[in-house]
Amino acid sequence: MRLKKTIATLAVASIAALVATQWLSCAPRRPIDELARLVKQLPSVGSAVAPSLPSPSSAPSSAEPPAMAVAPIVEVPPALAVVSSLAPAESPAPLGPTVAAVLDTTSCSTDVVKKLSEQIIAEEACLRPNAFQKLPDTLMSAAIDDVVFPFLAPPAYEALLAALGDSRRERLTINSMLRTIAQQYLLFHWYKRGRCHIKLAAAPGRSNHQSGLALDIAQPNRWKVKLVRHGFRWMGAKDKWHFDFVGRDAKEKAQAKRISDAHAGLDVRAFQRLWNKNHPDESLGESGVFDERTEQALRRAPSAGFASQTTCGK
Ligand SMILES: [Zn+2]
Repeated sequence: MRLKKTIATLAVASIAALVATQWLSCAPRRPIDELARLVKQLPSVGSAVAPSLPSPSSAPSSAEPPAMAVAPIVEVPPALAVVSSLAPAESPAPLGPTVAAVLDTTSCSTDVVKKLSEQIIAEEACLRPNAFQKLPDTLMSAAIDDVVFPFLAPPAYEALLAALGDSRRERLTINSMLRTIAQQYLLFHWYKRGRCHIKLAAAPGRSNHQSGLALDIAQPNRWKVKLVRHGFRWMGAKDKWHFDFVGRDAKEKAQAKRISDAHAGLDVRAFQRLWNKNHPDESLGESGVFDERTEQALRRAPSAGFASQTTCGK
């Protein structure tokens, strides 16, 4: 009974506020009879509050709402929102299959975790705004699939642009650059299962792709010498598409090492922060270490991304 009273009070207050807003604001107005119709939709509350509504004829003529077509209502009107917020809480709908579920699909593309990965990369940018640079969209000499995240750590980025500048007429197809923990997790498990013709994959948390210091290309024979000249190291026959940026001289090598250390676990930490924002009751340590709890959380994470995104500025 008290709940009903509360609902009625809140509904009256919300509707009165809505009516006042509708009549006082300069924004397009919702016709008053539509409000009355909304009130009638309120179970048991509507009849109690409907008589208190002013009728259109009692309003001053200068405040007469302009004629407008009544569009179908797609939003939840405030009064109804009050009621639904009192309904028993339901678990939020999962945003796509979990990472564990897509691990078992027949796909061989990490596109299945693209949305989650985009959130992780955005969170990495919150944690360390200058960690990665995005390859220009106008880079005509490189073909980059839209599944690839075209980011590299600054010295690797500059080295790649320099290599491309040396051979403007030769096309370079890039199959992988920056990867997130979600992508590396899939690739590693597909590799372990002998799937997807993956010759080699680092354990999640251990790949230079996660640090923004590696790239995979489709034409290693044509580009090997040029990339090595600018500080990349070819992985060799065991993973002939893969190149790591290690630097040319002592200064660049020290820089590459510094970045490798600084970026280690950045994506894992970004994931842990996103997870914590969405699961405050099951929070993880934000260590950047891909430990067992973090792995279990990643397996349960929605492949299409969390409901609540980046924690930038919060
Ligand atoms: Zn690679």
